[in-house]
Amino acid sequence: MGRGTNMGRGGARGMGRGGGRGIGRGGGRGIPPAMAQGQGTASAGARRANTANAEDELLALRQQAEVMGRQLEQIHERIRSLQRQEDAAPMAARVDPDKCTGCGICVDVCPVEAISVDNHLAVVDRQTCTACGLCVNECPNEAISVG
Ligand code: SF4
Ligand code: SF4
Repeated sequence: MGRGTNMGRGGARGMGRGGGRGIGRGGGRGIPPAMAQGQGTASAGARRANTANAEDELLALRQQAEVMGRQLEQIHERIRSLQRQEDAAPMAARVDPDKCTGCGICVDVCPVEAISVDNHLAVVDRQTCTACGLCVNECPNEAISVG
């Protein structure tokens, strides 16, 4: 009990002195120097952790961008390759699937039997087609072109 009382008094004195000075100087910040240093260390640690996280994310994003860049280049190369193939392909009839009704008129007019109808859609065998254009003229739906 006796000790308890002493502690009580000691505490009161300590606060009285320290409080006066603390508010006068460091009071503007409201944090005693020792505590401020502790918090500063903590916030510096948090900043370091944030910086490390940001650097990790930056590295990961750069790697991701690099991979995506390579993939994009491969896609462009494939497009160029297909374009070259298409440019080099011989002329032949092409069917617009949005216009073709599968009526079969083109099948009947084709002199080399290069067209068939499959599932209500005309299909041209480009290897057989001679690009004569007869089917283009006969299609009632303007669904065929030669190119
Ligand atoms: S004539 Fe025209 S609409 Fe009819 S099957 Fe041939 S492409 Fe299709
Ligand atoms: S262009 Fe001539 S050869 Fe080719 S599918 Fe039409 S009719 Fe047949």
